Amino acid sequence: MAKLRVIIGQGTATEVYRYTAASKDWETIVIGPRGLWSVLPGEHKMGQPAHLLSLPGQNVPAYQSASGKTAKGMANFLDVHSYQQGLLELAKANDKRSGLVTLTQGKKGQTINLAACKVESVEREFNRTTLLVTTANPRLTLRVDQVVIGTGIGPQRTPEGADIKIVGKPDPSVGFKQILEAAEYFAAAPPYGKEVMIFGGGATAAWVAAEAMERATRLKWIARKSSRGNSDPFAGGTLPGDRNFQVISLTTPLRAIANVTEIKYLPAAYAGKRRLRGPKLRVTVQAEGKPPQVCVVDQFVYSLGGDQFAEGSIRRMVAPDLIRALEPVRDKSQALSDGKGTLALATPGRELLVIGAAVYNFETYAMPRQPAPMSTLPRNAQVLDGIAMVVASVSALNNYIPIKQDAKANVVECSINFNTADKNQLSCYVAAFYPELAADKANAIVDEVVLQRSDKAPGREFGVTEAEFNEIVHRHAA
Ligand SMILES: Cc1cc2nc3c(=O)[nH]c(=O)nc-3n(C[C@H](O)[C@H](O)[C@H](O)COP(=O)(O)OP(=O)(O)OC[C@H]3O[C@@H](n4cnc5c(N)ncnc54)[C@H](O)[C@@H]3O)c2cc1C
Repeated sequence: MAKLRVIIGQGTATEVYRYTAASKDWETIVIGPRGLWSVLPGEHKMGQPAHLLSLPGQNVPAYQSASGKTAKGMANFLDVHSYQQGLLELAKANDKRSGLVTLTQGKKGQTINLAACKVESVEREFNRTTLLVTTANPRLTLRVDQVVIGTGIGPQRTPEGADIKIVGKPDPSVGFKQILEAAEYFAAAPPYGKEVMIFGGGATAAWVAAEAMERATRLKWIARKSSRGNSDPFAGGTLPGDRNFQVISLTTPLRAIANVTEIKYLPAAYAGKRRLRGPKLRVTVQAEGKPPQVCVVDQFVYSLGGDQFAEGSIRRMVAPDLIRALEPVRDKSQALSDGKGTLALATPGRELLVIGAAVYNFETYAMPRQPAPMSTLPRNAQVLDGIAMVVASVSALNNYIPIKQDAKANVVECSINFNTADKNQLSCYVAAFYPELAADKANAIVDEVVLQRSDKAPGREFGVTEAEFNEIVHRHAA
């Protein structure tokens, strides 16, 4: 009998896992809302061109370089809508391939909308090897053999969590949420506040700034002093390719390094029955060595990094004994590292597995945060919880090889991405297409492709072109 697995989350890691771990031994239930990319504005440009964001089993787009410094270069970053379409296609292919279980409830057997459900707890069953999963739907509790957690970067630190005092309550007449995190701001429908303050300096905050420049008329962007001494706190979002160059340049006069200490809700102001202004926020900003300053704005959007203990975090969802048992799953086959890199987190029996962005945003008292084994990827794709890293780590975890051969060893399918493939995939590619090549030459090809695509030299930010890849192969094969 097939075993039962629950995957929590419906983002990139989940779909890549389902595709690369396809096995008839498991039936799979996926619980959770569609990921990040379904809520971000569709026309927004991502941080990489399409070839560095391609998903397993799909056509690999041609190599492209991109640059946030020119309109032409900017056009070469993939847009959110196209990425989300690819992800939905992968989800569809996964649903078709096998094993996705749907659940029904009630006498009429209504299908439970698992995409509207959130998992609340995961715990070991007393005296059993199975895990018990409870959800926000009181009628949906599951006993399963394995839980795979693909919940992404996790909940973000709130202003209260960052020691900001919140005074008062929102005025119900306001019409929009006034204090909100980046993802909520992206997903919000109009109306929007006209005067916006952003707090946080990373890549997500830069996205908020770009979006706020469209939605608002006045913007103030604040970031705390970097913990790395004198480095620019707004540079956190800068990757090779300078995706955020325009927003960073355009906001130079609007940015300040300071702390926010208090946010006070101000109700709408009236003179008699005449409304003078709508509800506002009075934000106290404190720059080093200067007296506190007060800014009055409509909305305060924050992006302050993850909170390990917030509502919805893995720490809050999973029972302490399972948390304590989690350990890194090492890259033993040296697919992406020297063998010490971490591909996932798991309990020793793998009944609980953590994959994707969640892996590199998690720590316990006993286990420090794991670095992502990303140094063999092109520099533009070296984002520790980014898509290329999620695709590479989950594929390596499942020993996925994107090449199929028939009984006579003819290649009948190949969807290898030379720029994000791990070393095992590249080795299989060389073995499949150049079976007569001596092992040392085959290894030299793999090593040189990895070295070249991750080279720090200018012009190499996006990896190798198809022509450069072929040149390496032919030179060694000659
Ligand atoms: C604003 C922003 C922009 C980014 N831009 C880029 C970029 O341009 N390029 C790049 O490579 N990376 C980018 N990233 C990094 C991002 O982490 C990855 O792109 C990718 O989404 C990670 O995939 P994942 O599947 O691990 O997580 P996600 O895609 O975040 O998916 C997590 C899933 O878990 C679900 N979930 C969470 N908690 C529960 C629960 N309790 N129960 C059920 N379901 C739950 C969510 O609804 C979601 O479906 C960006 C991140 C952010 C926040």
